[in-house]
Amino acid sequence: RRRPAPRPALGERVLEALPEGTRQVVLALKEAFPQGVYLVGGAVRDALLARAGPDLDLVLEPGVRVAEVARFLVERFGGSYALHYAFGTGRVRLPFGLSVDLAESREEVYPYPGALPQVRPAPIAKDLERRDYTVNAMALSLATLELLDPYGGLRDLEARLLRPLHPLAFVEDPSRIVRGARLAARLAFRFAEEALRILPPALLPEVLRTASKSRLRDELLLTLEEETFLEALALLEELGALGPLYGLSLPDKTPFARLRLPEDAPERARVEARLLLLLFSQEDPLARAQALALPKRLQEDLALLLRAQRGEEVPKEPLDKEPLRSVFLALFPEREAWLKERRRVLRGRDLLELGLAPGPKVGEVLRKVAEARARGEVRTFEEELALARKLVGDGTLPSPQ
Ligand code: ATP
Repeated sequence: RRRPAPRPALGERVLEALPEGTRQVVLALKEAFPQGVYLVGGAVRDALLARAGPDLDLVLEPGVRVAEVARFLVERFGGSYALHYAFGTGRVRLPFGLSVDLAESREEVYPYPGALPQVRPAPIAKDLERRDYTVNAMALSLATLELLDPYGGLRDLEARLLRPLHPLAFVEDPSRIVRGARLAARLAFRFAEEALRILPPALLPEVLRTASKSRLRDELLLTLEEETFLEALALLEELGALGPLYGLSLPDKTPFARLRLPEDAPERARVEARLLLLLFSQEDPLARAQALALPKRLQEDLALLLRAQRGEEVPKEPLDKEPLRSVFLALFPEREAWLKERRRVLRGRDLLELGLAPGPKVGEVLRKVAEARARGEVRTFEEELALARKLVGDGTLPSPQ
């Protein structure tokens, strides 16, 4: 009988799939650290899918320290690093736009049943045990270029399936459901049957009550960073998870399709814009925003949008800023002309026409009028002019000669 052909050297395949700069970093590490350094998680998964990005996740076994690897990388390539000793983690930023996450491999131990877990140093296999999906639980040993794949991640990767590592995976950490939806939407994967089976208990109120709110919120924000965020949300809805996890329902897609942020808008503005649109379409947007502990600024933006929806008058000044401006236009395209029409404001030359002599008084009146405008006390050019007349003529300032 013929023995099955050995798999084409997978380690080599992962290495070759890395972008050039990243591969140089990995090869340098391989040479400098004869054992105990592993490439893990998304970096391995994406390399095997031939879609590796510029970032690396490395796990170090006991005996190799985060600080040591961080220093080595910065000495060799330049850049900077930050360490979190308490967590045994660190992040190195290399000059060519590459970031390397470092973590010492850990296991969780429960001192007695039901106790909070304690983490302690452990071999890589234990670290992989704590991960979310089989495709994220592979590691490439830099020393041997051997692919560690204890849960059949490669098989699932080829079938494009997201399979949790164990039946309690979602109950333990419901944010994994959101991570799964995000990955499924991004990579065109599906949840494996097992995932669907273990989902319902994780969505029970008594489980979600004790789940980490901030972790769930962070996963939602990460999801909104993705191009495919609407697919991810639709998938969560289909799983019956969007309501239990976030109290949200699937939004109407139209305003998202209309959303146009300026080219130079920061990534954060894009996420916030999507978040505002998502919340706007909900039953009680302000309550949802509060439940997600959104910054006050965004809660105020949302309140303004709701006032505009009710047909109430809204001030234009806040609508000068992103992301509110783009969100407003996406929701109320018919008000674009109104928004873009610049209202005439009082200028120095208007004061000279009133007869005021050039000089510091001109600036003083303009400043007072601008303050009144900011307080909403004057809303039209005519009102500004009337106020200016009063300021010029009521003895606060010398009358024009
Ligand atoms: P991305 O491409 O979105 O960055 P990633 O898989 O690298 O994908 P990270 O959030 O950087 O995602 O997480 C790194 C690794 O840590 C994951 O691959 C996974 O193995 C593990 N991980 C992250 N979050 C969890 C979690 N909640 N439960 C278990 N494992 C997790």
